Amino acid sequence: MDGLVHIYTGNGKGKTTAAVGLGIRAAGSGMKVLMIQFCKGGSTCEELVIAQLKPAFELLKDKKISKFTWQMTEEEHKQMRENTLNLFNLAISSANNKDMIILDEIMAAISAGFIDEKLVFDFVKNKPSHLELVMTGRNAPEKLVELADYVSEINAVKHPMTKGIDARKGIEF
Ligand code: ATP
Ligand code: MG
Repeated sequence: MDGLVHIYTGNGKGKTTAAVGLGIRAAGSGMKVLMIQFCKGGSTCEELVIAQLKPAFELLKDKKISKFTWQMTEEEHKQMRENTLNLFNLAISSANNKDMIILDEIMAAISAGFIDEKLVFDFVKNKPSHLELVMTGRNAPEKLVELADYVSEINAVKHPMTKGIDARKGIEF
C-alpha cells in the first residue's frame, strides 16, 4: 500500500486528538507508528496510553519545553531551533523503519521559526513511498497543503474558553 500525506489544520479543537486516533487505528492494523510532538512540553494524558502500546506506537517529544514562543529569550529560541531540528532528524532517520509518522504541531514549529518550511517540504516530497505521514497544526503553509492527499481544516465554531472555561485534564491535555 502506498503511503499518503495527511494534514489536520484550522483553529478549532481536534487536530492532535484526530492524529492520535489515526495512529491508534494504524497501530491496530499492525502498522508501526511514531508520533513526534513539536513545540509542546509537559505531559498529556494520551501519553499514558500510548506508552502501553510500545513498540507499536511510540511517542517522542522534548519534555523540557515550558514556555510559549513569545516568552522566549533569543538564547532560548536558538535552543528551540536546535532541539526542533534534532527531533525532525529523528523523523528522517525513522522514515524507513516506521509505517506511519505523525509530526504533531509541525505547523506551529514552522510558524514560530523553529524549523524551515523548506526542510519539511523536502521531507514530505521525498518520503519513502510506503510511509503514511500525518502533520498537524494551525496555519498549514500552502505549499504543504498542495503536497498533501488529505487536508482537514477544523474550524472553531464554538470553544468553551470564550465562556471562561479553562483547559480540562483528560479533554484538553
Ligand atoms: P486537541 O489536542 O484537543 O486535539 P488541537 O490539537 O486541535 O486540540 P491545538 O492548536 O494544538 O489544538 O491547541 C492546544 C489546546 O488549545 C487544546 O487543548 C485545545 O483544546 C485548545 N484549543 C483548540 N482550539 C481552541 C480555540 N479555538 N480556542 C481556545 N482553545 C483552543
Ligand atoms: Mg494540537
